[in-house]
Amino acid sequence: MRYRLNQKNGDSLSILGYGCMRFPRKGGSIDRAETERQLLRAIEGGVNYFDTAYIYPGSEEVLGEILHKNGLRDRVMIATKLPHYLMKDRAAVEKCFAQQLSRLKTDHIDYYLMHMLPDATVWERLKGLGILEWLEEKKTSGQIRNVGFSYHGDSGRFIELLNAHDWDFCQIQYNYVDENTQAGRRGLMAAGAKNIPVIIMEPLRGGRLAGGLPEEAKKIFAQAEPKRSPVQWALRWLWDQPQVTVVLSGMNSMEMIDENIASACEARAGEMGESEKELFKKAAKAVTGKVKVGCTGCGYCMPCPAGVDIPGCFRCYNNRYSEGWFSGIREYVMCTTIKRQLSNASLCKKCGKCERHCPQNIEIPRRLAEVSRTMEGPVYRIAAWFIRKFIKL
Ligand code: SF4
Ligand code: SF4
Repeated sequence: MRYRLNQKNGDSLSILGYGCMRFPRKGGSIDRAETERQLLRAIEGGVNYFDTAYIYPGSEEVLGEILHKNGLRDRVMIATKLPHYLMKDRAAVEKCFAQQLSRLKTDHIDYYLMHMLPDATVWERLKGLGILEWLEEKKTSGQIRNVGFSYHGDSGRFIELLNAHDWDFCQIQYNYVDENTQAGRRGLMAAGAKNIPVIIMEPLRGGRLAGGLPEEAKKIFAQAEPKRSPVQWALRWLWDQPQVTVVLSGMNSMEMIDENIASACEARAGEMGESEKELFKKAAKAVTGKVKVGCTGCGYCMPCPAGVDIPGCFRCYNNRYSEGWFSGIREYVMCTTIKRQLSNASLCKKCGKCERHCPQNIEIPRRLAEVSRTMEGPVYRIAAWFIRKFIKL
């Protein structure tokens, strides 16, 4: 494993971080035994940065339990996030934080983030609640070591936010497709100029740059030298940039952990030549040409009161264009009808509740109407009718 230095406090952070949002699941809940096996393997392989959040169901609790049980708390950095959008006053912040310490079975958080901070105005609102004084107290007492924020908006507002406080670190969505969207390279450079660690989330855009890659992009990587999987290419693109400190991967299989660790043992900043950089431009073009809705599957928009499986609908809709009509419709039928309650796009009541939670700023009701028009034709309706009539759900 390679490590990069937090120049502010001397922490040595593994360039591969563990994203704890997608722990393996069994029967609807986190598979604790399998998660433990995987976390131990990652720690053994040198991963020392674990990123969770208050709102990831069961994640803080399971992470805390595994680290405590195996006596590993002091070998890793825990990053977790304050759901500031749920906080009405300072007492609520304190209560939430106490719950996080208890779930994580720890007396301190190494990296504490304001979760999905959208802009400097919201930061001002938090300051109005006394968050600055509260954070200062926590840092003095040692309960919080570093304060940062995670961000999903554009580069302009990111830079404003970056300059609105003396942050210890930040976390952005960044990958070769988002080089010029979101905080983008411009945001990365601005954070790098402040010498603060930059943690990268969505390095594979919710899997779209892995298994969800269109054929054309797969071919581009398959023809490239040296031989690497599309995932390894995507990670190496990030680690090539010295301003990137930790790349979070939502790992949930042993193969994925081993493959990523092997790559993180080799990667160096500044190793890519011009021809390799050109490769990513071509691949990005192939990906964006096929993606209809830039949904990463994060699930922040869920649950929908009308029962729509929002990320599922967008995933199938995108597949219809990247993998073909039949593949998209088949997946859409399986995803939205083989369950007790239907969850297809046309159930949307346009209440707008989901939209304000979407970090990708997707106009969800409008795009769902598009999904419904495209995907719910006669073939879908007949298949859905048949399944609901003859399959016991
Ligand atoms: S706008 Fe539609 S998809 Fe979004 S929460 Fe409301 S009903 Fe659900
Ligand atoms: S629609 Fe937005 S919030 Fe919902 S899963 Fe997709 S990216 Fe996440």
